[in-house]
Amino acid sequence: MPDPDVVVVGAGFAGAVMAERIAAVRGLRVLVIDRRDHIAGNAFDARDQHGVLIHRYGPHIFHTNAAKVSDYLSRFTEWRAYEHRVLADVGGRLVPMPINRTTLNALYGLSLRSSDEVQAFFDARAERRERLENSEDAVVAKVGRELYETLFRGYTRKQWGLDPSELHAQVCARIPVRTNDDDRYFGDAFQCMPADGYTALFERLLDHPLIEVRTGVEFADLRERYDHLVWTGPIDEYYDRRFGALPYRSLRFETETRATPSGELLQPVAVINHPSEDVPYTRVTEYRHLTGQVHGASTLHYEYPSAEGDPYYPVPRPENRALYQRYAALAAREKGVTFVGRLARYQYLNMDQVVAQALAAFTAVFGAERSRAVH
Ligand code: FAD
Ligand code: UDP
Repeated sequence: MPDPDVVVVGAGFAGAVMAERIAAVRGLRVLVIDRRDHIAGNAFDARDQHGVLIHRYGPHIFHTNAAKVSDYLSRFTEWRAYEHRVLADVGGRLVPMPINRTTLNALYGLSLRSSDEVQAFFDARAERRERLENSEDAVVAKVGRELYETLFRGYTRKQWGLDPSELHAQVCARIPVRTNDDDRYFGDAFQCMPADGYTALFERLLDHPLIEVRTGVEFADLRERYDHLVWTGPIDEYYDRRFGALPYRSLRFETETRATPSGELLQPVAVINHPSEDVPYTRVTEYRHLTGQVHGASTLHYEYPSAEGDPYYPVPRPENRALYQRYAALAAREKGVTFVGRLARYQYLNMDQVVAQALAAFTAVFGAERSRAVH
C-alpha cells in the first residue's frame, strides 16, 4: 500500500469508527495501528483455551439511547437481545444492584410495596447537600449513609484506590436509584450484545479496501508519511508526559473455568458485585450470560483493580481534570491531529459515547472538507 493519507493510532471504537468513516465517506487511504496484537481495543473478545467466548478486558455490555449510534453500528452487526442484571453480595446475601425496592426489602426485612413507600424510606435517610461535590455526596444525598456504606464506599475504594469523597460525583451517579422493582443495570432504550461478538463487529468495521490494519505496532516505530493523524491513545503519552503523567486505573483478572456438562450456568446473573473491602476483588463475571453461548464449560473473571497495567479508566477528580486541560490546550493548537476516545479525551465514556464522539469528530474534521488536504 502507498503511504496512507491518514494514520489512526488505536483500533478501539474511537479509531475503528474514525477509520471506517474516513475511508467510506471521504475515500482516503487509512492505516490503523495498535500496539496490542489484536483489534477492538478494550472491547476485544475471543474464545479462551476452553472454547468459552470471553471479553479479555472485562465485561462489555452495549447500551444506548442514541438511535444514531445503534443505527450506525447495526450496519456492522446483528444483535442479540440482552438486558444486564447485577447482584451485590452483602454478607452472603445477593441483592439487586442498582438499589431498588427488592434491595431494600431484602436488606432490611421490609415489605415496601409502592414507589411512594420506597421514596419515603430514602427521604428519611438522605443527607441534605446544597451541591454534589463528589461521589460520596452523590450517593448519601439520594439514599443516605447506611446504604452508601453497604453498597458504594468499599466497592469504590477498591475500584479506584480512592475514597468516594475524592472522586467526581459523576462516578457513583452512573448508578441509578430506583423506587420500583426494575432490576436491570441500565435503563437505556437499546440494550443488546453484538450477535457474533465485538471482535467480529470490528472486523466488519475495518473491512474496507482503503483501510489497512497493523497490530502489534507502536506509533513511535511508524515510518510512513501521512497528512493527518487520529490519536486515540492516552493524551499525555502523545506529549511525552511533559506536564506529568495522567493517572489511569487498571485491572487484573483471575480466571476460573468450570465444567458445565449440561450447559448450565454458575451464577444467577452475569455479574456479582462485592462491595465489601474484606474481599479483594470488585466483581465476578460469567461471560456466557452475556454472550448466550451454550457450552460444556463456563469461565468466570474475578476483577482486581490495580494502579499498574494498561490504561483502562481515566480517574475523574479535579486535579486530574486540571492536568488534562493543560494537555488539551496543546491539542487544541495542534495542526493535522485529531484526539478522540476515552484515553485521548481523558473522559469516563461508555462505548456508545465513544462512537458518538468519533462520528462527531469525523464530521467536524473531515465532513466539511472538499479537498483531499485534511489539515
Ligand atoms: P480503547 O478501547 O482503549 O482503544 C485504544 C487503543 O489504542 C488500545 O487498543 C491501545 O492499545 C491503542 N494504543 C494506545 N496508544 C498506542 C500507541 N502509542 N501505539 C499503538 N497503539 C496504541 N462501555 C460500555 O458501553 N459498556 C460496558 O459494559 C463497558 N464495560 C467496561 C468494562 C471495563 C473493565 C472497561 C475498562 C471499560 C468498559 N467500557 C464499557 C468502556 C469501553 O471499554 C470504552 O468506552 C471503549 O472501549 C473506549 O474505546 P476507545 O477506542 O476510546 O479506547
Ligand atoms: N459502584 C459501587 N458499587 C457497585 C457498583 C458501582 O460503588 O456495586 C460505583 C463504583 O465507584 C464504580 C462506579 O459506581 O466505579 C460506576 O460503576 P459501573 O458499574 O458503571 O462501573 P464500570 O462498569 O465502568 O466499571
